[in-house]
Amino acid sequence: MSTEPIIHQCECKTCKIGLDTEIIKSHQRINLFLSRLNEPQRRWYVATLAEETDAPSDRQLALITGLDEKTIRRGKVEMQDQLVAAPVGRQRQEGAGRWRAEKKTRR
Ligand SMILES: [Zn+2]
Repeated sequence: MSTEPIIHQCECKTCKIGLDTEIIKSHQRINLFLSRLNEPQRRWYVATLAEETDAPSDRQLALITGLDEKTIRRGKVEMQDQLVAAPVGRQRQEGAGRWRAEKKTRR
């Protein structure tokens, strides 16, 4: 297990143009943090960002974080459901496999 976490490079317009260092730094921080989270944690964090006032659109967040818009929306639904599908104590270690029972109550 010597895998270096891969840090996503933001693909938003602002970072591509490269002038607004505050935004660039902020997006780099987000991606650095995300690189240390497991998959469900990543989508919950991005969903949390998406619910902030003045948050970027899901599409924009997808460019920033590399997550699918679909994944972000799923994270939002899970957060709105109080993470009932992921109770405390049921968190699996990275590499230990996927969530066992995902409830398909909403679609
Ligand atoms: Zn960016």
